[in-house]
Amino acid sequence: MLERGTLRIGRIAGIEIAVHVSWLIIYALFAWSISTLVGPELGRAQTIELGLVFSLVLFASVIVHELAHAIVARRLGIPIGNITLFLFGGVASIKREPGTPADELKMAAAGPAASVVLSVLFGAIAWPLPERMVWANDLFWFLAWANLILAVFNLLPAFPSDGGRILRALLWHFQKSQARATRAASSISFVIACLLVIAGIFLVFDPRAIAGPDTSAVANIAVKGWWWILIGLFLGQAALASRRGAQANLILETMPVGECMARTIIPVPAAASIAQLVAEIALKGVDAGYPVVTEGRVIGLVTLQDTAAVPHTLWQETPVTAVMTPLARTPAAAPAMPACEALEALDSHHVGELPVFDDGALTGVVSKASIFAALHDRAKAVRA
Ligand SMILES: [Zn+2]
Repeated sequence: MLERGTLRIGRIAGIEIAVHVSWLIIYALFAWSISTLVGPELGRAQTIELGLVFSLVLFASVIVHELAHAIVARRLGIPIGNITLFLFGGVASIKREPGTPADELKMAAAGPAASVVLSVLFGAIAWPLPERMVWANDLFWFLAWANLILAVFNLLPAFPSDGGRILRALLWHFQKSQARATRAASSISFVIACLLVIAGIFLVFDPRAIAGPDTSAVANIAVKGWWWILIGLFLGQAALASRRGAQANLILETMPVGECMARTIIPVPAAASIAQLVAEIALKGVDAGYPVVTEGRVIGLVTLQDTAAVPHTLWQETPVTAVMTPLARTPAAAPAMPACEALEALDSHHVGELPVFDDGALTGVVSKASIFAALHDRAKAVRA
């Protein structure tokens, strides 16, 4: 599935490659700036052509970086979506977080490793080029540097960048908890982001630059300082967002389903109509599980959302069994199961609720809504 505003451009190793419309702006900008690298020995038309071609090679390098992540992910059995080029580079959509620190390390390191290989490759092309092909020399060196910078920038230990993921993998290995490692990696990233901002401010107001006679050098340092501040702010807010996410995940890892399920069980007879179910829900409130029972046996679960597919006019005559999720299609949860595992099961089976069985008896129903309500209560309790 592609997002809106993206164009498919092809498929490599079975992975769909697409570009977001915003990328076209950056492509034009790069093509223009690359064409300015070409010396005056070539004509205007040739200069523009070279800009367009080498800009494409540069973006192909970004795709190679993302492909490296995606191919390693697939080797590790992690489902992958497509690769999309955006305004600020590429994104490989990986459907699931890696399950072990070793997998995370391999996946995160693959991208920068590919960029380093490309950098060496372009350098090796540039090196032996004859003197008279000065433009080709310049352009291939540019590609070599650009790939090296891409690798180094991605290796900044600022979660969720590649470097941040490598850091998290190492912390995860020692701390044995992904959520705790994410929290620590995000905190370290936040400190690094703050240091970048502080260093940027120093560069902008460097007293040597202010006192110096060379105004072009002053301007140069100030511009660089602003870049550091911008990158620092960008990384800092990404770090704060992952820290918040990690906080929630940490609770989900430790909170048992027994603490976040609806305990009120209101059995609905299999012969009941949707109209009767809706009346029951309106009367008792939605914070309850509604198992569909026949002859004392639970055969499925039904929710208010399940009824949305049926038009109001048919509610009287449609039985709840027509819209319920049959028990056979729903994995069962246990009260001791961590909430994060219940969430995974809800997602992977595309169901709205899971029955919770304790010693064979239905004791509750867990849904995303009940889990998030419990999370919310926990957060409130922490603040109070
Ligand atoms: Zn990467």
